[in-house]
Amino acid sequence: MIEQQIKQINRGIPPQVQLIAVSKTKPNSAILSAYNVGQRHFGENKVQELCDKWESLPKDIHWHIIGHLQTNKVKYIAPFIHLIHAVDSIKLLIEIDKQAKKHDRNISCLLQFHIAKEDTKFGLSYSEAKEILESSVYSPLENITIIGVMGMASFVEDEEQIVTEFNELADIFKKLKETFFKNNDSFKEISMGMSGDYPLAIEAGSTMIRVGSTIFGSR
Ligand SMILES: *Cc1c(COP(=O)(O)O)cnc(C)c1O
Repeated sequence: MIEQQIKQINRGIPPQVQLIAVSKTKPNSAILSAYNVGQRHFGENKVQELCDKWESLPKDIHWHIIGHLQTNKVKYIAPFIHLIHAVDSIKLLIEIDKQAKKHDRNISCLLQFHIAKEDTKFGLSYSEAKEILESSVYSPLENITIIGVMGMASFVEDEEQIVTEFNELADIFKKLKETFFKNNDSFKEISMGMSGDYPLAIEAGSTMIRVGSTIFGSR
């Protein structure tokens, strides 16, 4: 079942789009089923659960933290995290840089944008991101690399609204690329699209989809 879902999703997406299997709340056995058909990128949203899984599962797994990250928890994931998807403040960036330095690492990050009409979701506006990228405390950070943007569309049936929100994130990406990352090849990722909406996200330019329930079943 899990194996089939991984294969089927991979067959249906373009090669430049990376599938992140969102394994939150799911046991190690489910993760290993996906691992055994070649899946190496997994996403979690709770630090404790992520650390437990990292300790007990194969070390060639690339772990993504996709949920809101508290500053005081960065230290637990700094030794191993592959990508932090939901950076939404300069304070968090500074802490990630500090912890990365301790482990002699450079940690990749995405800036999370608030694109949904719902006010329950985290994320920056364009002007808040601009403020971070122009700030004098951002430029000296040497142990983080911002490699793109992340966002979640509203949880609605209305496909037109979802597409509008994904396009908004793609536009934000383009504007940031032109303004702040013009000659920076690392800045290239747009993390958007989940089980219910990833085909729409890919059409709008997603490079990373975060898919949980379609692979592992409902939570
Ligand atoms: C849980 C979660 C997902 C995956 O959601 P599904 O609908 O199960 O595919 C994707 N992104 C984030 C940020 C999540 O928290």
